[in-house]
Amino acid sequence: MRALRLLDWKSEPVMSEVPDPVPGPGQVVLRVGGAGACHSDLHLMHDFEAGLLPWGPPFTLGHENSGWVHATGPGVTGLEPGQAVAVYGPWGCGVCARCRVGAENYCENPAGAPVPAGGGGLGLDGGMADLMLIPDARLLVPLPAALDPVTAAPLADAALTPYHAVRRSWTKLAPGATAAVVGVGGLGHLAVQILKATTAARIVAVDLRPQALDLARESGADLVFTPGDAAAGIREATGGRGADVVLDFVGSDTTLALGAAAARTVGDLTVVGIGGGTLPVSFFSVPYEVSVQTTYWGTRPELIEVLDLAARGLLRPDVTTFPLERAMDAYRAMERGELAGRAVIVP
Ligand code: NAD
Ligand code: ZN
Repeated sequence: MRALRLLDWKSEPVMSEVPDPVPGPGQVVLRVGGAGACHSDLHLMHDFEAGLLPWGPPFTLGHENSGWVHATGPGVTGLEPGQAVAVYGPWGCGVCARCRVGAENYCENPAGAPVPAGGGGLGLDGGMADLMLIPDARLLVPLPAALDPVTAAPLADAALTPYHAVRRSWTKLAPGATAAVVGVGGLGHLAVQILKATTAARIVAVDLRPQALDLARESGADLVFTPGDAAAGIREATGGRGADVVLDFVGSDTTLALGAAAARTVGDLTVVGIGGGTLPVSFFSVPYEVSVQTTYWGTRPELIEVLDLAARGLLRPDVTTFPLERAMDAYRAMERGELAGRAVIVP
C-alpha cells in the first residue's frame, strides 16, 4: 500500500510503498477515509529534533483519521467490516486511572502505551496511507449515520482539541462573557463553531489573514481583528474588561503577549498552539487571577460529544480534500497561508 512517511527529523515526508498491515489479537486495520493535515505535522517536519520527544521517525504521518473497519484481529467484538469509525488519536496504556476514564491524552503510564505519549502519525504509523493499524479496538469510535467518513477526519483533532479546551472553561463562558480565538485555521475555525454551539458567550476572532477572518465570521464570530488591533479592540468591545477566555491556537511570543493583554481578571488564557513562544508569568505580567494553561488533545468521551455535535449539523468543518499523492501540496498550501479551514487527505 501507499504511505506518506516521515523518515527523519528536519526533512519532508516521502511517498513510499509499504506492506499492508495485518491485525494481531485485539487489533483492527482501518481503511482510511480521510486523514487531516495538521499544522503539528509541519512542526514535526521542521521544528522538532532527536531527543525532544520520546519517539521519532520513521513513521507514516496522519494523526487525525476516520474511515471504515477493514479487518479485525482475533478477539475483536462489536466492530464489523465496513463500519464507519473515527480514530481516537492519543493512544495511552488503556489501564491507568486516566485511561480508564477515557483521558488517554493524559495517560500516566506512558511506558505501557503502544508508544510513549504518541499515537498513530505521532511515532507510530498514521492515516496518510491506504490502511492503518489500530493497536486496540477501544481506540475506534463508531461514526453517527449522518457523518461521512471522508470529511469526518478533522473531528478527531481539529475539533476534539478545541472542544476539550473550550469545555474546561465553560463555567467562565456564561451569557455576557467574551471568548477570544487567536489563529483561525484548522483548529481555530472549529473553536469558533464549538463556542457558538455550546456557550452563549460573545466570540472574537483574531488572525493575520483576511481569508481566515472571513471563515471566522462564517463560523459564528461576532467580531474579528487583525493582531495589531486585537488587544485594544477586545478591551473596547468589552467596556475595558477584556476577554473572559482567550484560546491561543498559535502560541508564539506575540500571540501569548496578546492573550495576556486581552484577558479579563479571573479569566483563562489557554495555550493550544505549539508555536514555541514563551509568556513570562509574574504578579503584574498578567491581569489578576488569570489562569494560564496548556491543553493537549481531548478525551474519548469528548470525541463522542464532538461527533454528536457534528451529526446534528452544529459543527461543520471547512474541508479541502487532496488525493494522497498530493498530500505535500496540502502542507505547502498550509505553510504559505493559502488554506482556509482544514485540508483532508483522501487515499
Ligand atoms: P493552521 O495553520 O491551520 O492555523 C493557524 C492559524 O493561525 C492560521 O490561520 C494563521 O494565519 C494564524 N496565525 C499565525 N500567526 C498568527 C498570529 N501571529 N496572530 C494571529 N493569527 C496567526 O494550524 P492548526 O492545524 O489549526 O494548528 C494550530 C496550532 O495548534 C499549531 O501550532 C498546532 O501544532 C497546534 N496543535 C496543538 C494541539 C494540542 O493538542 N495542543 C493539537 C493540534 C494542533
Ligand atoms: Zn494510561
